Amino acid sequence: MSDPAFGERFRVRPGERLRLADHDPAYKGRHTDKEEAREETAHYARRLRELQYLLYAEGRHGLLICLQALDAGGKDGTIRHVLGYMNPQGCRVQAFKVPTPEEAAHDFLWRAHRATPGRGEVVIFNRSHYEDVLVVRVHEWVPKRVWKGRYARINEFEALLAENGTRILKFFLHISPEEQLRRFERRLEDPRKQWKISEADYAERPYWDAYQAAYEEALTRCSTKQAPWYVIPADHKWFRNLAVSKIVVDHLEALDMRLPEPRVDLDEIRRKYHQVAKADPE
Ligand code: ATP
Ligand code: MG
Repeated sequence: MSDPAFGERFRVRPGERLRLADHDPAYKGRHTDKEEAREETAHYARRLRELQYLLYAEGRHGLLICLQALDAGGKDGTIRHVLGYMNPQGCRVQAFKVPTPEEAAHDFLWRAHRATPGRGEVVIFNRSHYEDVLVVRVHEWVPKRVWKGRYARINEFEALLAENGTRILKFFLHISPEEQLRRFERRLEDPRKQWKISEADYAERPYWDAYQAAYEEALTRCSTKQAPWYVIPADHKWFRNLAVSKIVVDHLEALDMRLPEPRVDLDEIRRKYHQVAKADPE
């Protein structure tokens, strides 16, 4: 079921100007509903687990997955889904909140750099260094010339990581404003989700267009060959999960990973520790 053409549909091509209006957040391709997609989704989940085991065993590559979305865009659900299938040994989630005083005292990439995966590791960024050209730009917390310069810094940073063996995949979970409001409403009525409600989420809604413009520029300038951005239709949670896991699986398959050769002489180990015991049961 490996199908690299699938991801191409959502990839932002370097040099191409992204227009989010051209991307339907409710897209579901040839799929009809969650039930119909269940088997394929389960296949990718299993494959993800196997590939992560190989990545860990081989220790040649790291994998960095950046997730960005507006509030209620589904970052948490995607993490639960994608990471839920991996072995916690070798996987980590890093959330990016309002910078702490220590983080704010450094350059904007400092906290991102120290959280990147080592070889053999998978790290998911829940929000990322892109917040510094998104929320920071929308609210004009730094002058324009400062955030404008950051696109180039981000590309250099990601090129450095890629050169060092880190695979980078970046996903923008694209929802419609109507779907966002529906999700807020559901939270309001679901006692298990009410704790998630924050007035700050509603306060960002008037900035919807400014966020779309900020995302368009960030994804246009920073989707590169070695660190591509994908615009994932995310109004349907099941399609979002399917798409993200499928794209991650296709990238990992392309790494052509192998289990390392044993570092010892297996015959000698068998002879030394197993046959002797068998030959002499008393
Ligand atoms: P959830 O609401 O699903 O729990 P979240 O990622 O929205 O997850 P919050 O604690 O609600 O987490 O919000 C974190 C906030 O920190 C976001 O509003 C985000 O825009 C903000 N933030 C992240 N990075 C920066 C930054 N570099 N500068 C300023 N604000 C930032
Ligand atoms: Mg939030």
